[in-house]
Amino acid sequence: MPTFKNLDEWIKKFPELGPVINLEPVTWINREKWKMSEELKSLPGNISMEDGRRFMDRYSFYLEKAFPEVLEGGGKIISPLREIKTFWNFRNNLSNTPVDGRLFLKCDHALPVAGSIKARGGFFEVLSFAHRLAVKEGLIGEEEAGDFSLPKFKALFSKYCIGVGSTGNLGLSIGIISAKLGFRVNVYMSHDAKEWKKDLLRQKGANVIEEKGDFGVAISKGRAETLGNPYGYFVDDENSKKLFLGYSLAAYEIQSQLQEAGILVNKDHPLFVYSPCGVGGSPGGVMWGLKNLFGDAVHSFFAEPTHSPSVLMGLITGKMERVCVQDFGIDNHTEADGLAVGRPSAFATGIIKKLVSGIYTLNDNSLFELLRNLYDTENIFIEPSATAGLIGPEKILGSTYLSDHKIDPSKITHIAWSTGGGLLPANVRNELLKP
Ligand SMILES: *Cc1c(COP(=O)(O)O)cnc(C)c1O
Repeated sequence: MPTFKNLDEWIKKFPELGPVINLEPVTWINREKWKMSEELKSLPGNISMEDGRRFMDRYSFYLEKAFPEVLEGGGKIISPLREIKTFWNFRNNLSNTPVDGRLFLKCDHALPVAGSIKARGGFFEVLSFAHRLAVKEGLIGEEEAGDFSLPKFKALFSKYCIGVGSTGNLGLSIGIISAKLGFRVNVYMSHDAKEWKKDLLRQKGANVIEEKGDFGVAISKGRAETLGNPYGYFVDDENSKKLFLGYSLAAYEIQSQLQEAGILVNKDHPLFVYSPCGVGGSPGGVMWGLKNLFGDAVHSFFAEPTHSPSVLMGLITGKMERVCVQDFGIDNHTEADGLAVGRPSAFATGIIKKLVSGIYTLNDNSLFELLRNLYDTENIFIEPSATAGLIGPEKILGSTYLSDHKIDPSKITHIAWSTGGGLLPANVRNELLKP
């Protein structure tokens, strides 16, 4: 592992690390990107998106029953795709190099029940576990779906304890669905988790365990304690394929929403997607899903805070989860609590390094500026972490990426992924909107 003493050697070996260590906002382009191939289309263990989609379709009736607020989507955990023209024009007017093209917001802050992108991965993983238990117990067949609101299922699930480490939103997602199913659930929260998220979780029936350390500490403690329990099941944000697959299913939604909007995606009409990135699971899953459906017509970029560039450092050094930002003297302190992660996911980075087009970083001031710009121009409120994708077009159009790939900027459809903020209480929201 690097120490402060040999930082200079690291920078000599990987010059791109220099500005990252100095906390400067950077735009990094992945020169080792692969072409999308059959080989990349299934996950280890041959899990496929098709299976994932069928599974969630089977369980939509239960979700509808358990969470009346998802009724509108017919039991589907889906969010709108909205063009944000006023925001786009506003940002273009600020810039001295205005560009053509269209910008959409994928509104996962508006996902039902959990109010963040974590609903996608989290619900999929916990429902999969519940399903497996019910099949093993002989209560349902493999291809059936259980009505988990019935007492016999609750009695079974109540024997088990789900554990998860979180900076906030994953905890909310796992906590809410697990408690609803009747599991006991322990959420190990990092020190930067917001009070209102803990309060809400307790109110939903989850057990909140507060850690003094950051996300890395919370997840290690949660993993050790949960795996030490024979009836424990740990949702492991640093390794989970289930979470990853759950996130990837968003690609089907994008596909039909673009179709409805009459937007073509192909080599000459590329789709540029900008995703806020923590451990890399949610942006990685979404990217992998989109690449499965659209191939190399999708160009995927991740956004990280200058103080938490964990996936970026893993990729630049090639050391992935074996390095954390603290190894390089970076503190992992940011108001973007959803992205306050010092070490990337081992599983996700293996895929990200092959498919991601680039990663950029931005500082907290930019996040707050974007948050207010979006609210002022579109009347859409999202949490600081969720804003990081909004600056993507400016960052990438300002790089050499388009000329390198011979892309005509006016033909690009941009999607900024808004990853959370739907459950923020009014007082927290007003505080964030203050100039
Ligand atoms: C968790 C989260 C992310 C990033 O997801 P990872 O899987 O950690 O990369 C982005 N935005 C918000 C709001 C989140 O909660």
